[in-house]
Amino acid sequence: FVHQLNDESIGMQELLQSPLHLQPVPSQPLPPDLYGPLRRNSAGLDLAMPDLRAPLEQAAAQVTVPAVPEADPARIAEAVARSRTACPGWSRAPVEQRAGMLRRAADAMEERMAPLCALLVKEAAKTWGDCVAEVREAVDFLRYYAGEAERILQPVTLPGPTGESNTLRLTARGPWVCISPWNFPLAIFTGQVAAALATGNTVLAKPAEQTPAIALEAVKLLHAAGVPPDVLQLLHGPGETVGAALVADPRIAGVVFTGSTQVAKIIQRALAAKDGPIVPLIAETGGINAMLVDSTALPEQVADAVVQSAFRSAGQRCSALRLLCVHEAIADGVIAMIQGAARELVTGDPAQWATDVGPVIDDEAFEGLQKHLRRLHAEARPLLPPGEAAPASRLIPPQAFELSDIAEVKQEIFGPVLHVVRWRGDPLQVIEAINVLGYGLTLGIQTRIDSRSLALADSAHIGNVYVNRNMIGAVVGVQPFGGEGLSGTGPKAGGPHYLYRFCAEQTVTINT
Ligand code: GLU
Repeated sequence: FVHQLNDESIGMQELLQSPLHLQPVPSQPLPPDLYGPLRRNSAGLDLAMPDLRAPLEQAAAQVTVPAVPEADPARIAEAVARSRTACPGWSRAPVEQRAGMLRRAADAMEERMAPLCALLVKEAAKTWGDCVAEVREAVDFLRYYAGEAERILQPVTLPGPTGESNTLRLTARGPWVCISPWNFPLAIFTGQVAAALATGNTVLAKPAEQTPAIALEAVKLLHAAGVPPDVLQLLHGPGETVGAALVADPRIAGVVFTGSTQVAKIIQRALAAKDGPIVPLIAETGGINAMLVDSTALPEQVADAVVQSAFRSAGQRCSALRLLCVHEAIADGVIAMIQGAARELVTGDPAQWATDVGPVIDDEAFEGLQKHLRRLHAEARPLLPPGEAAPASRLIPPQAFELSDIAEVKQEIFGPVLHVVRWRGDPLQVIEAINVLGYGLTLGIQTRIDSRSLALADSAHIGNVYVNRNMIGAVVGVQPFGGEGLSGTGPKAGGPHYLYRFCAEQTVTINT
């Protein structure tokens, strides 16, 4: 209550009427075949670790990353032709058959948890905890979309005049190009592919050039589960050549892309510029994701949520916290707690169990982050010791800087770097300033005034809002994930409306 009195925008009456909200609301139980949030977030991970540690270490000792050849233009053209030819047979197969294959692949993936994690650590330099969560997310996507396809692909009979029958049904569109990122090289890859396959489309998958081997493993499991080779084809190579050739092909029917805003716009322009049908684009891009902390927030909860959201996965999540907006009345205390918590984080080799923050993905990412950090050191107040950035191992210890205004944060920084701004006055104006940045992926709100959290969420043009908790790790079927504005075209991966975006619709009217 002491904090409360310092916040000029909160009436005492409002505070007294508002139920205190000290714990996050528990989520709904998941269907039994999905991994529950309690078993797959960082807390749940501890439960799983004792069972997994020995097999993971064994797998790590054996894993090798295979070289994967790049697709040339002739191979790409041939792949598109095969994809088109395979589509009618695949889309006409009963949905239960396709769903069965996805479920078989999910089971196989679950069984191969240890070798898949070992490959992820090696190829994508993710920490063990992140790898386990990632394999579980991929399994969830397969099972969730299998069930969703069975649910939505049933024809709907519509009311009409006597002597006429009207039926609406969802149909496949054709070959989809799935372009996936390196930061979730198994989960997002599998999610995109599973959504397109479940709805009867064929797939040309182009994974990030940094992480082809884990994509190859996923494809092998799907093929072994019964998906025909021409229905799911993998094409490796850079986005500028292989991705561009696929997108430019007039025979493709849709593109699903996760990556940068800049590349999403390049794809959108390329799709619009070519001859042929109007091709839908599902894009999920980045964000300058903010957390608004008011003076009633619990500092301990805020510090934990900030450290998880900004620094876990070395900040290499599109959902990660980039901009902390903390009320001036509690800012000093909150910053001190974040400093204390961040000091405890271990930055190092992802293959070590103790590591919290692993390397950034490649030299280009490392150089870009170093450049941004040099600018921040010149222009802002550092809140954490710089630590030792190590170019050879691409390690960047967590960094935080205080700035004077939200508008100073101009671009998404994809790494363990937090920007902090103090605010006073009306929290709605803070949300307005966040909206002006143009991104709309995730938002954190920390407050103990329930009515305020809903009002703030209502004014935010943002796809995923997390109140009084961290803002990463959306769970399939529980927190459908995706943003708006510069953050994407809107569809929510892992949500009940996602699969509709992969389908065309047909109304059949019969004069009986
Ligand atoms: N779905 C992930 C999360 O909620 C982020 C996905 C991404 O980084 O693209 O943290």
